[in-house]
Amino acid sequence: MTTRIAHWVDGRPREGASGRTAPVFNPASGRPTGEVDLATVEEVDAVVASATTASVEWRQSSLSQRSAVLFAFRELLHARSPELAAVITAEHGKVLSDAAGEIARGLENVEFATGVPSLLKGGFSEQASTGVDVFSIRQPLGVVAGITPFNFPAMVPLWMCANAIACGNAFILKPSEKDPSAALFLAQLWKEAGLPDGVFSVVQGDKVAVDAILDHPGIAAVSFVGSTPIAKYIYERATANGKRVQALGGAKNHALVLPDADVDLAADSIVSAAYGAAGERCMALSVAVAVGDVADGLVEAIAARLPKLTVGDGADPDTDMGPLITREHRDKVAGYVGAGQQAGATVVVDGREAQVPADGFFLGTTLLDHVEPHMTVYTDEIFGPVLSVVRVDTYEEGVRLVNDNPYANGTAIFTRDGGAARQFQFDVQVGMVGVNVPIPVPVAYYSFGGWKDSLFGDTHMYGPEGISFYTRGKVVTQRWPDPATSSVDLGFPRTR
Ligand code: NAD
Repeated sequence: MTTRIAHWVDGRPREGASGRTAPVFNPASGRPTGEVDLATVEEVDAVVASATTASVEWRQSSLSQRSAVLFAFRELLHARSPELAAVITAEHGKVLSDAAGEIARGLENVEFATGVPSLLKGGFSEQASTGVDVFSIRQPLGVVAGITPFNFPAMVPLWMCANAIACGNAFILKPSEKDPSAALFLAQLWKEAGLPDGVFSVVQGDKVAVDAILDHPGIAAVSFVGSTPIAKYIYERATANGKRVQALGGAKNHALVLPDADVDLAADSIVSAAYGAAGERCMALSVAVAVGDVADGLVEAIAARLPKLTVGDGADPDTDMGPLITREHRDKVAGYVGAGQQAGATVVVDGREAQVPADGFFLGTTLLDHVEPHMTVYTDEIFGPVLSVVRVDTYEEGVRLVNDNPYANGTAIFTRDGGAARQFQFDVQVGMVGVNVPIPVPVAYYSFGGWKDSLFGDTHMYGPEGISFYTRGKVVTQRWPDPATSSVDLGFPRTR
């Protein structure tokens, strides 16, 4: 018996009429649990029409009214976090504590957005010219859309929708069709928080729905998070249609481990960041760059930690690492391990041989040593529990490796030397940098984003850049002349 997973339009679920659906699995059992509707172009049109009507009213709402809705939503999300975590684990597979962690980081974005009255404060210049004042305001765009990946079914939508709605826009979410239920849970919470119907909508779907969003003249801006080829496609098609776009792509995040690093701390951090969520994080560390004589000890320390990790159903509190999202993805990741081996990498720990539950899309942890930059395990984003160790002789060689990589989402350095860390932060061409911090996801009052092939567009996501992305600036120049001094003057206006 599977559940029908519908759209959310006008403040309630709406079953799709396309006749097209996609199966949703519990990756821990390998069995289908749901059928998600896949929207047609006409269904996307209907969602945009509903959002357009709602946006007209919502942009009139006062900042304190919006802030009150955000506070209520924050309270509900906090209170219902365990339920939402269970929804995420059932469709994504990540362990419950990890699902709770993604909700907690999403919650920070809601908390940031509750401050919208101060975030939207403009500037004011009195007497810019004699008797003339100038001020700046920021206004909403109208209807905006978010297209999100499977790996953070709550946090990534929250990166987008909290700020978009706080700024006075209506927001349409197109979640991943692989784990679409969290989006409906969020929709229900927005409704309970008092958000007017139509300000937050969910359209379920695949490429048909995405293309309809990219082409729809009623949508002003698109936020996207997903893989690099799709991010590039989204950016090119939506900007060609005149939309504002921020499209975040894939990653290959390197940890540079210097010879003076605390090897146990580095190994703990790298294991956590490489294998957490089974490596299905855009900020996962997938390459450890061992500088000089730290390599043998580091590989040994990482290898020693892997047998202690329990692989199993994410709903079981004793599990450390859950399954991968689909059977196809599991097989693809296992294929990379074989390719690495064939290309000459040393398989220190082989995830294909691990004891894992028979059903479900499980793969154990893999550690590859002596990986070289030409191997596919290095060049490709694997998005699974596979860590590659590349050995280099010097710091300079390590930084060059990181900077030559086309991806540039996150990176981390492990060292006890403050000067070396500062030099790394200065030299490295990556958007988010950790110093002895393996997953440097910025807090909600900074902004999130990579460089190069990890982000297409000009603004990073959430935080201050999110507020400017979801608003348009306007500058007003005003005077209240005394009719007695008014005269016709065809000259170009000068300040006096
Ligand atoms: P994906 O690119 O396959 O899908 C993302 C979204 O795009 C989904 O909603 C999907 O329905 C849609 N989509 C997929 N194929 C499409 C197509 N051909 N045309 C139009 N739309 C399409 O990504 P995923 O597998 O869901 O997520 C994993 C990827 O996301 C990884 O590459 C990961 O690094 C990346 N990611 C990046 C960040 C970041 O912040 N940079 C964060 C999370 C995930």
